[in-house]
Amino acid sequence: MLAYRKRRPSPGLSLDDCPAPGAPEAGEVTVRVEAVGICGSDLHVADWSGGYDFMLPHLPLTLGHEFAGIIEATGPGVARVTPGDRVTIWPSSPCDTCPECTAGRRRNCRNKATLGLYRDGAFAPLVTARAQGAFTIPDALSFEIAALTEPLCVGRRAVKTGEVSPGDRVLVLGPGTIGQSIAVFARAAGAAQIGIAGMNDPARLEVCNRLGFDQTYDLSDPGARTRMQADFDEADVVFEATGRDESVQDGLGLLRMEGILVMTGIHSGDVSFDATSFVRGRRQIRASHGSGEEDWHAVIATLADPALDLAPMITHRLPLSRIAEGLSLASSRRASKVMIFPQQQDVSE
Ligand SMILES: [Zn+2]
Ligand SMILES: [Zn+2]
Repeated sequence: MLAYRKRRPSPGLSLDDCPAPGAPEAGEVTVRVEAVGICGSDLHVADWSGGYDFMLPHLPLTLGHEFAGIIEATGPGVARVTPGDRVTIWPSSPCDTCPECTAGRRRNCRNKATLGLYRDGAFAPLVTARAQGAFTIPDALSFEIAALTEPLCVGRRAVKTGEVSPGDRVLVLGPGTIGQSIAVFARAAGAAQIGIAGMNDPARLEVCNRLGFDQTYDLSDPGARTRMQADFDEADVVFEATGRDESVQDGLGLLRMEGILVMTGIHSGDVSFDATSFVRGRRQIRASHGSGEEDWHAVIATLADPALDLAPMITHRLPLSRIAEGLSLASSRRASKVMIFPQQQDVSE
């Protein structure tokens, strides 16, 4: 089968012909991948620009961790799902045996073995996963929208971390899929005002507009920066979803006293900020990364609501054979979420 892989610790990915996975082991399932999204982290791994050295012992490795599909086979002892079930997969589901899991902190599992980062992922027609991570999806939910569950869970977790409350003024730095997901759940949490900023990012800011967020700012325009500062001075919560070092100071500079900055972006180097005003303003910096089981249940329930139209988040659709085009579209930011369909020979964009 075709699989899109990281072969060695240097820039680049390759579409290789690989053996299909064998029968699933105890506690595992094999999933026929119907839709899988290209994530910002896939672009970082492709560039190999820092922050992903933990992958070294696992190379070569198939990427892809945001997906939905159909259970093809189940290993011994699996009762959670049966072949034919439509599912999406939590790629870093807990092991339930390590000290963190047994202490009740499953979200901090030490054996996460995240698909697409520690073991073979879903940029392939078939993938093997822990049955624990399989969540069945409603019949009416399309595979491509179900494949957004993982980034939506990351957004929901960040909003929980930032304690967004009704009436809050919330600014999201970074208009990509995680920024969009944060905005969607900040709105659900009752935020009164939500702004989203990007830098030379017109296509993704346009997606934010189509999702119903009209306060968007392209900071490459000095006028937009001035407007953002006027609109969101003394914000309650700012989310940093860019990985750009300057955006940490930008975000802190806009927070009210005791406001919360939630960092979700992966930074390739150190970050500096004005520590004196940070301390005097008693501001908070928190980190949010990944998601927990509660997020998976909540997001899937949310997606079942036909009134929530998240289709604008997906801007491009490609078969697996053309995934390299998808990566270049995503890294140029001409695309927002690029969805790959591994079972299809050709699909229209
Ligand atoms: Zn992702
Ligand atoms: Zn564990």
